[in-house]
Amino acid sequence: MRELNDKTRIIFTTGGVFSALGKGIACSSIGALLKNLSFKVLNMKLDPYLNIDAGTMSPYQHGEVFVTQDGKETDLDIGNYERFLNQNLPKESNITSGLIYSNVLNEERNGKYLGKTIQVIPHITDAIKNEIIFMANKHEPDFLIVEIGGTVGDIESVPFIESARQLISKYKNKIFSVHIVPIIQMLTSNEEKTKPLQHSVKELMGMGIIPDVLLVRGKGIVSEENKEKISLICGLDKNNIISLPNQTSVYFLPEFLLEQNLHNIIFNKMDLEEMNSKDLGEWSIFTSKIKEPKKYVTKIAIIGKYTEITDAYLSVITSLEIAAIHNNSEIKIDLINAEKINESNVRGLKRYSGVVVPGGFGDRGIEGKIETIKFVRENNIPFLGICLGMQLAAIEFARNVLGIVDANSTEFDDNTIEPIITILDGKYKEKDLGGTLRLGNYSCAIKKDTKTFEAYQDSIVFERHRHRYEFNNDYRDIFELNGVIFSGVNVENDLVEIIELQDHKFFIATQFHPELTTKTFTPNPLFNSFVEVTKELKNK
Ligand code: GLN
Repeated sequence: MRELNDKTRIIFTTGGVFSALGKGIACSSIGALLKNLSFKVLNMKLDPYLNIDAGTMSPYQHGEVFVTQDGKETDLDIGNYERFLNQNLPKESNITSGLIYSNVLNEERNGKYLGKTIQVIPHITDAIKNEIIFMANKHEPDFLIVEIGGTVGDIESVPFIESARQLISKYKNKIFSVHIVPIIQMLTSNEEKTKPLQHSVKELMGMGIIPDVLLVRGKGIVSEENKEKISLICGLDKNNIISLPNQTSVYFLPEFLLEQNLHNIIFNKMDLEEMNSKDLGEWSIFTSKIKEPKKYVTKIAIIGKYTEITDAYLSVITSLEIAAIHNNSEIKIDLINAEKINESNVRGLKRYSGVVVPGGFGDRGIEGKIETIKFVRENNIPFLGICLGMQLAAIEFARNVLGIVDANSTEFDDNTIEPIITILDGKYKEKDLGGTLRLGNYSCAIKKDTKTFEAYQDSIVFERHRHRYEFNNDYRDIFELNGVIFSGVNVENDLVEIIELQDHKFFIATQFHPELTTKTFTPNPLFNSFVEVTKELKNK
């Protein structure tokens, strides 16, 4: 077993009663709180499912797949953490039960446990503790916030909770436990019920963990009466029951936690000196921007295929929202189902000041997306294409401007005679689908005197990828001769990374995913420029 380094303190967070409590945002907010009090903070998530990573899951399951700069396909909460911490996270920040079991079983096959019976306790719990301590020791943060996915009481998260219990009993006041629970409102009245919350605390205690703090989700703040009741029954000081109500912006939460003194409750248990900060420095400058009256408004359409759930495009939507905050602009975003767009209704997009076609896999909805791209190209409507959105922009241009009517991607037609988009060198054409895409950071050289350069103000940038197909370089000359600028090209492999149209207000499409690098303080430059050109004076 690894030993935890002397510097790092760990905050475990668990959730109770039901899922979708906003645990990820709560953990991100604790991170932002501590980071903006000048500590080095990292977040980590333990996911109870048996997939090795999030890469093979449909967005319908857990929302978008987030990709770290070092190329791991993770849960979308890693994206929330990165944005709130204003910092990139390493691949070890997302661990799944599947990964833990697979490592232990591989070791078993290699003879590491020869002669022994392998058991959940101690072998699986040791492997979990090792992963947590590995993260702590490799990066030595002051605080490592570890979110345990799922809900207390689920069978699958038991090994994670047991591992947390073991670490608490070993490292005592170096570990802090936060339990996030809802107050339930009755269906027929405004009466609030704390019973489910009480049972969840009991369940957690039954597993050997006494929470140091309860973060209580609800419509408003927890009433004095409820605090007293919870305090008595759960054996917690009233001050350690902290309200986490819905806010007009999630970015107000870190300051809300500061006001309720969460940081000092943590410091007290951990023998650290109290801090009496009245604000959160740079974070408070950011939130004051949110509160500013807005001079502009921008109206964006995202043409996707997972339109019933917003989490499928979480980073795209959040990047637009953060860019709007930095542009003193209100933002309205509509998610439109690409399958419903056709030649006769595409004009409806005229109402928007900008259109985004995000990434995706498979051919569902692509004809509607191509129709969209044709329309915004011909009508000078600002356009941002991402990954599949870039590939379709190339196909649309080939079909409708270059007259290559059969232009296609080999993703949709393996035998197409005009493979504008294809797999190069068979490099990513592997049988296994897990972790075999072009993933994570690749360098991109930016061409001077382009809108892309105006956005980045830099000649080399690094952006994150998640795709298998590429623009086919055989077609580069004919595209360039007809007004396409390849404004970003990968340095090592000469792959097309960004295309831009010469005579257009803003038409930029990228093979990479610019939405993955936005932080709250610094929106990705392409999103920033996109919002800049799409914002209009409010009382125009
Ligand atoms: N399906 C495309 C590819 O694999 C695009 C992927 C994406 O948009 N993330 O290349």
